[in-house]
Amino acid sequence: MQLAQRAAQLGEVPVGAVLVLNGEVIGEGWNQPISGHDPTAHAEIMALRAAAQHIQNYRLVDSTLYITIEPCTMCAGAIIHARVARVVFGATEPKAGAALSNGQLFDQLWMNHRVRYDGGVLEEECREQISAFFRQRRAQHKALKKQRREQALPESVTQEQPGLK
Ligand SMILES: [Zn+2]
Repeated sequence: MQLAQRAAQLGEVPVGAVLVLNGEVIGEGWNQPISGHDPTAHAEIMALRAAAQHIQNYRLVDSTLYITIEPCTMCAGAIIHARVARVVFGATEPKAGAALSNGQLFDQLWMNHRVRYDGGVLEEECREQISAFFRQRRAQHKALKKQRREQALPESVTQEQPGLK
């Protein structure tokens, strides 16, 4: 959740991930596709990359990935490729969630690797973190729109009365 907060500070949707192997954190990640100009820069991918560099192996056998939000299809795919043993996530993602919500990628029999997963750990806290971010962003957009309207007002008044000089 602290890593997710780093994403929020960048104006990114707050999602954080840590990869743990034998009780040690070997990779951390936070969501950064916009600031990184990288559509694949989800928190999970960043954590997998950092961990694979750390152990100099693209297979992260016996590791556990903790994520604040249910992974998307891309991340679930990468988690399977990396041979992560277990995924633990906080809140479910009703739209893009690919573990439970809208897809069940980890349960597909045609996948060559089984990932165990548990959702709903600190679910309320994780959901609130992401909801607070979107609430704040909506409020900012609203304030900006209001400001633009107010700035545009004197101009439109003069446009309505073109004869006045
Ligand atoms: Zn993802």
